[in-house]
Amino acid sequence: MKRPIYMDIQATTPVDRRVLDAMLPYFTDRFGNASSKSHLYGIEADAAVRHAREQVAAAIGAKPHEIVFTSGSTEALNLAIRGAAVANRARGEHIVSCVTEHPAVLDTLADLATKGFSITLLPVDANGAVDPSAFERALTARTVLAVFMAANNEIGTTHPLAELARIAHARGVLFSTDATQGVGKLPFDVGRDGIDLAAFTAHKMYGPKGVGALYVRRTDPIVHLDRQQHGGGHEHGLRSGTLNVPGIVGLGAAVELAVAELATESARLTALRLRLCERITSRLTDVRVNGHPTQRLPGNLSLSFAGIDGEALMMDMPDVALSSGSACHSGSLEPSHVLTAIGLPADLAHGTLRFGLGRFTTEADVDAVSDMVVASVARLRDLSPLWELRKGR
Ligand SMILES: *Cc1c(COP(=O)(O)O)cnc(C)c1O
Repeated sequence: MKRPIYMDIQATTPVDRRVLDAMLPYFTDRFGNASSKSHLYGIEADAAVRHAREQVAAAIGAKPHEIVFTSGSTEALNLAIRGAAVANRARGEHIVSCVTEHPAVLDTLADLATKGFSITLLPVDANGAVDPSAFERALTARTVLAVFMAANNEIGTTHPLAELARIAHARGVLFSTDATQGVGKLPFDVGRDGIDLAAFTAHKMYGPKGVGALYVRRTDPIVHLDRQQHGGGHEHGLRSGTLNVPGIVGLGAAVELAVAELATESARLTALRLRLCERITSRLTDVRVNGHPTQRLPGNLSLSFAGIDGEALMMDMPDVALSSGSACHSGSLEPSHVLTAIGLPADLAHGTLRFGLGRFTTEADVDAVSDMVVASVARLRDLSPLWELRKGR
C-alpha cells in the first residue's frame, strides 16, 4: 500500500537516518548508566551525554552546564514555568503570557492560577502577532515571569523574542520561551535574544520522541527553579532520573544537524511553502492564508477554505497526512484556540488545514498535494447546498 504524503511536520518529524546511526550503539554495546562512572560502560555513556550537552549548548549559544535534559518540551515547560513561579514567589505571583501558546504552557498556567498565581494572557492581532507595548503595559511590580513561544505550531507566526525579553528584563522579569518550533528552524540564540529559560524537543527536529531539554540561564542572572521531580539528583538536582542516553545522543545529533542546515533548509522550505500556497490560492476562490506573511516559520502553511469542513476535506484526501483546525487531539469539536484568537469565525476555523513541510518534503509532494486539495475542495463545494446559496448571493 502506498503511504500518504506526510505534511504534519509541526506534530512530529521522522528520525533522520544520521541521527539514528548516532543513537544505535547506545542501545546495545554502550548501554551504560551515565551515573555509573566506576567502569567503562558508565564512563562511555557519561562521555556521550557530555558530548550531546555540548552540541545542544552550542546550537543555542548556551554553556553546557545550562542544559537540563528532560522527556520533551512539555516536561521542560512545566519545570520552567512552575519552577520559576514557585522559586520567585516571594517577589510576586504575576505571570504574563499569550493566548496562542501551546497547551503545555496554557494548562500549566491555568493550574498555577488555581494555586494563587495571577495570569495575564495577552491577545494577538489577525496575524497572530503580539503587541510589545501591550506586554510592557501588562507588567506590574508583582510580575516575575513572562512566557512567549518562539513560533506558533498552528499558524507559524513568530514572536519578537529579543524585544519582548528586553522589556521583561528592564522590569526585572524573567523571560521564558517555548522554543519547540524555534530551535533548529529559526535563528535562535539565548545570548543575543536575552532568553532566561527555553524549552525544546528532539522529535520536532528529526530526533527521537521522548527527549528534550530546558535551557536555564546560570549567569546574569542565575535563574533559580523549584525542582518538579525528586530522586537521585541528576541534572543539577533539577530533574532526577536515570538519563535517557540514546535519546540524549539523538537530541545532540539532531540539533547539530538542524542548525548546520538551517540557512539552506529554511530557504528551500520557504520556496516550497510559497509554491504550495500559490498553487492552491490561484486555483480556488475564498481561501484565507493564516499567520504572519513574513514573521513566520518557513515550513508551515495554514489555509482556511470557506464553505468546507476540514475533517471532511481530510477524509476526502487519504493520500496526504495533515492536521485540521479543530482541537481534534482533545476529541472535542471546539475550533482551535489559536484560530479563534486570530479572529476566525468558527465555520472558517473548522475549514482550516495545516500543511507542515519539512526536510523530506519534495517539490513533487507539494505539487501532488496542491492538486489533491484543489480537486477535493472544488468537489466538496459543488456538493454543498450552502456553498451554492453563498455563491448565488
Ligand atoms: C510539540 C510541541 C510541544 C510539546 O512537545 P513534546 O516534546 O511533545 O512535549 C510544545 N510546544 C509546541 C509549540 C509544540 O509544537
